[in-house]
Amino acid sequence: MKLTNMEERIHILHGQSTTWSVIKDIVSSNNQEDAFYVCDVGDIIRKHKIWKAMLPRVEPFYAVKCNDNLVVLEVLNALGTGFDCASKAEINKVMGLGVSSDRIIFANPAKPASHLRHAAEMGVGLMTFDSDTELHKIKKLYPDARLVIRIRSDAVDVQCQLGNKFGCDANLEAPSLLALAAHLDLEVVGVSFHVGSGCREPAAFNRAIRAAKGVFEQAQRLGYNLSLLDIGGGYPGGKAESIQQI
Ligand SMILES: *Cc1c(COP(=O)(O)O)cnc(C)c1O
Repeated sequence: MKLTNMEERIHILHGQSTTWSVIKDIVSSNNQEDAFYVCDVGDIIRKHKIWKAMLPRVEPFYAVKCNDNLVVLEVLNALGTGFDCASKAEINKVMGLGVSSDRIIFANPAKPASHLRHAAEMGVGLMTFDSDTELHKIKKLYPDARLVIRIRSDAVDVQCQLGNKFGCDANLEAPSLLALAAHLDLEVVGVSFHVGSGCREPAAFNRAIRAAKGVFEQAQRLGYNLSLLDIGGGYPGGKAESIQQI
């Protein structure tokens, strides 16, 4: 194949093209001076299809921090996914593509006040928390937010553990946090967890969902009727592993 129009950001390739042959073509075209990035957009679409087939009741929200390349975000936007944003900059980037606020979750349980104020301005109301500090902050800056309590439930075998940074204990901390949320008259709508990135232990999801169920029941006793379970990340993204087991 020949890359003739370097202005085009997406190229439809035919025949025997591989990532490597594309890179070589770009280099040998002699008009690429800057560093460049090659991405197989078809792979994103394939994975989205697999996700919908395997987990039809789960609406995917793409974690922008994984790769915030514009082409990646635009393709996901076209596929109709939601977006998981961790900061003001990520919210702006996604909304700049025309994504509406109801397709975004501000999934950072420890938000700087200025970012929280920005979320309120943009109407990004769905957000996570895992501490009393965060609840007081939200009460002050965005009292109408719809809250998701993040619990900790770590997989044993993961590439990158996140539980050492995020998530409250489902038994020891969640009850008092939910009680505080109720006392502050805040709206709690769901529970979230993240077993850790690159999870190699499918049973971890079973454990986490079981723990989340307990939190749903605690919330119910406080008069909440939770309707959202955010099953986090950690799903295999490579070609070799399979999402089937999970
Ligand atoms: C990073 C992140 C994800 C995605 O995690 P992966 O391990 O990359 O799949 C999902 N939810 C939250 C809150 C995250 O921070």
